[in-house]
Amino acid sequence: MPRSPPPISAPERGHMSAADPILKVSNIETYYGRIMAVRGVSLEVPRGEIVAVLGANGAGKTTILKTISGVLDPLKGSVEFDGLRIDRLDPDRIVRLGLGHVPEGREIFPFLTVEENLMMGAFARNDRDGVAADLERIHGFFPVLKARLHQRAGLLSGGEQQMLAISRAFMGRPKLLLLDEPSLGLSPLLVREIFSIIRRLNAEAGISMLLVEQNAKMALETAQHGYVLEVGRIVMADSCARLMQSQDIQEFYLGAKEAGARGERRWKKRKVWR
Ligand code: ATP
Repeated sequence: MPRSPPPISAPERGHMSAADPILKVSNIETYYGRIMAVRGVSLEVPRGEIVAVLGANGAGKTTILKTISGVLDPLKGSVEFDGLRIDRLDPDRIVRLGLGHVPEGREIFPFLTVEENLMMGAFARNDRDGVAADLERIHGFFPVLKARLHQRAGLLSGGEQQMLAISRAFMGRPKLLLLDEPSLGLSPLLVREIFSIIRRLNAEAGISMLLVEQNAKMALETAQHGYVLEVGRIVMADSCARLMQSQDIQEFYLGAKEAGARGERRWKKRKVWR
């Protein structure tokens, strides 16, 4: 039976076009030395929404996030955040503009306490009352962190460290959060817990999110829009509802077919939807 084509956003036609995107990445190319890791990627995050980027190991997901947060400079293309060009700005300037990055592997400070880690996230703020209020909100979102506020962060479990990394970024009062593989190395139960908090932060604190994940099921259930990245290029872009119905996504990313083990297969050809 022929598959009905999704009506929007083949990569050849550009990308999802939101009326008021909080993030607009246009045709970026990023290199490590002479190796081109991101090959002309364009994507958007509509204000207030969650957007997922799916892709196998080495597809270039982390490199895209690092390019957005200023850790890496793109050789070509542009990044606009909240109406402002931010490519080539320093990472600390980008954080101050309201763009938080929760890196892969969490990168918490293990010898500092949980509270000290959280305060590091508020380094650019001088509104003490606001910082105290946000700390209270974190206690609501993550009661487990409240209980362990004065312990060294290195003693937390992997899931708790992920909660801390997200909370630390929250303390910077972000308008947009970049989340790099929040499910990495966590048990299914903790993955569900982390994703439920991600949804709450989006719904209750109004934070837009760009979520990079190998756990395609969680990502597609959480985000409104999704992009699929293969070898540094976007090969699919659509609403998550439609991506979940796509046979390719079901086979390659949702494990519907054994031969389609994630990361072992590539698209045979570029998808062209009309
Ligand atoms: P993973 O899920 O494994 O983190 P990813 O999709 O985030 O993968 P990236 O980490 O962005 O992928 O890597 C994209 C490509 O760039 C890969 O081929 C990787 O080997 C390469 N790469 C990443 N970091 C470096 C580096 N520091 N120096 C050279 N090449 C790198």
